[in-house]
Amino acid sequence: MTDYPHLFRPLDLGFVTLPNRVLMGSMHTGLEETRDWNRVAEFYAERARGGVALMVTGGMAPNPEGGVFPGAAGLYTPDDLANHRVVTDRVHQAGGRICMQILHAGRYAYGADCVAPSAIKSPISPFPPKELDEAGIEKQIADIATAGARAREAGYDGVEVMGSEGYFLNEFLVRHTNRRSDRWGGAYENRMRLPVEVVKRVRQAAGEDFILIYRISLIDLVPEGSSWDEVVRLARAIEAAGATMLNTGIGWHEARVPTIATSVPRRAFTWLTGRLRPEVSIPVITSNRINTPGVAEAVLAEAQADMVSMARPFLADAAFVRKAAEGRAAEIAPCIACNQACLDHTFSGKLSSCLVNPRACHETLLRYEPAAAPKRIAVVGAGPAGMMTAVVAAGRGHSVTLFEKADRIGGQLNMARVIPGKEEFDGLVDWFGAMLASTGVELRLGTEAAPEALKGFDEVVVATGVLPRDPGIPGQEGANVLSYIDVLRGGAEAGRRVAIVGAGGIGFDVAEFLVQEGESPTEDLELWKREWGVGDPAEAPGGLAPAGPRPAPPAREVTLLQRKAEKPGRRLGKTTGWIHRASLQMKGVQMLGGVNYERIGPEGLHVSFGAARETPTLIEADTVVLCAGQEPARALAEALAGAGVAAHVIGGADVAMELDAKRAIDQGARLAAAL
Ligand code: NAP
Ligand code: SF4
Repeated sequence: MTDYPHLFRPLDLGFVTLPNRVLMGSMHTGLEETRDWNRVAEFYAERARGGVALMVTGGMAPNPEGGVFPGAAGLYTPDDLANHRVVTDRVHQAGGRICMQILHAGRYAYGADCVAPSAIKSPISPFPPKELDEAGIEKQIADIATAGARAREAGYDGVEVMGSEGYFLNEFLVRHTNRRSDRWGGAYENRMRLPVEVVKRVRQAAGEDFILIYRISLIDLVPEGSSWDEVVRLARAIEAAGATMLNTGIGWHEARVPTIATSVPRRAFTWLTGRLRPEVSIPVITSNRINTPGVAEAVLAEAQADMVSMARPFLADAAFVRKAAEGRAAEIAPCIACNQACLDHTFSGKLSSCLVNPRACHETLLRYEPAAAPKRIAVVGAGPAGMMTAVVAAGRGHSVTLFEKADRIGGQLNMARVIPGKEEFDGLVDWFGAMLASTGVELRLGTEAAPEALKGFDEVVVATGVLPRDPGIPGQEGANVLSYIDVLRGGAEAGRRVAIVGAGGIGFDVAEFLVQEGESPTEDLELWKREWGVGDPAEAPGGLAPAGPRPAPPAREVTLLQRKAEKPGRRLGKTTGWIHRASLQMKGVQMLGGVNYERIGPEGLHVSFGAARETPTLIEADTVVLCAGQEPARALAEALAGAGVAAHVIGGADVAMELDAKRAIDQGARLAAAL
């Protein structure tokens, strides 16, 4: 008997029956752009072997002007067909099914040739789009339909027509981007003409018995977005036009509301899919911030959807579905929704991977093969670097002992998990715990490994982490000065007015921790919606609350400082930095760059500005918290070197600068794969 009866109920689509209710949602990983189609095929085949019922590829352009950037992968050149065939064949051999997403980026296409219903530039692109004329519109429809026919020819089981997130089709639907007065604009029946026509023509071109998913925007989160009545009208028309299923899209890319970041509550938007479901008779798929089989099961059990789409969770663990089916859910590597190795990479022009699974998109390159000659391996430090080394090495058949001087595993992850909005880190620490147990790692907590004790091992890995940097500010030994460790781990209480020295990742985290009181909005959907101004599209078109964001008052007055003369937070995650900055701004946090720290007194922190140390200023504060970065904790590495014991030094003990869990885990995995 499965723990997830709804998740593992087959779904009969008439001409095909899907074995379970899990869809791997579309992701732009950058793999296709490597043009290494064997690598692309292995990425999908590994996930097919992992038991997912149906996958959707990253968005494929139907023509050059619709590509997300010049040269983006598509299906419109003679070579494309053969390349895509490599993928579909491999997926089918692996027992899986795959649809190709047809993505016309419209005015989000990052190129001078971009096209749209009206010549209105998007706030997230420098390129003003060209307004299409009648012939231009017909060309776009024909190209999309042709891509549908070619997808069938290339062996796909179906297509997903991307109609949400503010891309081309979505742009026709709303006045925000469609100012036309011809038959493609004006009244809603005109604005919805294009998506409906596209679905009709794709169905005609690709034929029957071919999955056609339409991704519909349920809440645009932009001004002048669709109303709920319009969404329902469109959904019914799309069904009549020949769609097999409707998938859920949430928020345009230009929306100033986070929709998939880690601070968004789990399943924050499934209520909208649940509301659409009774309005149509085809299956509906829900999505966004669903990352465990338990959450997916609950959504299905509550009849909010017929199928659940998860995308990033399949970067974190290709075997998500198989592990859930085998009662091994605790071993599913959790997507913590950090975006650090997936979307942040994509938006920096780098290949995606995953913070918790460095093999993601590197399946052919990073392999965990059974060890030819099992060794005795000591790993010192149960932070992310050490735990990953231990898990991968033990999984390969080595005999691994993991030493940790604290009485619990996790290292720096234990600080992240107390930050409001970072609750997902709990699951990551739990996963490491489950994996250490299932791979048979001998865990010695409360044990400080001495060089002598490490001499008998074949390999020694030092992952002792970091120590806080001493900023050397006069007066920092005062009773009103705390380190981030005192605050996050030691439970030290900060006063009402706080100055934070250092505005890196940890300075921001500490600020978030100090301004929040009571329940974290990430744990309370209604609170979170109020904080970000998310309303109901049935009451306000686009679903933006008319009153705007209404954050709870801050628990403290916080000033966040750095020496660099730039905007604090500029170096935070590419796709998430704006969320952290906005969140603190909403809580009235003052951010100051370009300061010199002169001294700390009982009255607060004295700073000056610029190279000439001008404008002496007192930041009045009851507490000053030091978050001035970190240095490698190298005592053991140096002692081992002195004792002549060879060791691999990884993670923060190796290089503390710009260390994060992504680098620590990646380094641990790569070392362990090679031992
Ligand atoms: P960090 O990001 O390197 O920031 C250190 C901060 O301390 C900077 O603001 C720096 O700014 C300041 N600083 C450096 N030397 C100083 C000195 N001698 N005196 C005073 N201030 C000094 O380090 P972190 O905040 O400790 O974070 C550690 C790592 O964890 C980072 O790589 C970070 O990305 C990662 N992390 C990431 C997140 C996330 O949300 N993605 C969250 C937490 C941690 P100035 O030099 O300009 O003063
Ligand atoms: Fe999830 Fe972070 Fe991995 Fe992206 S990098 S898939 S958000 S855990």
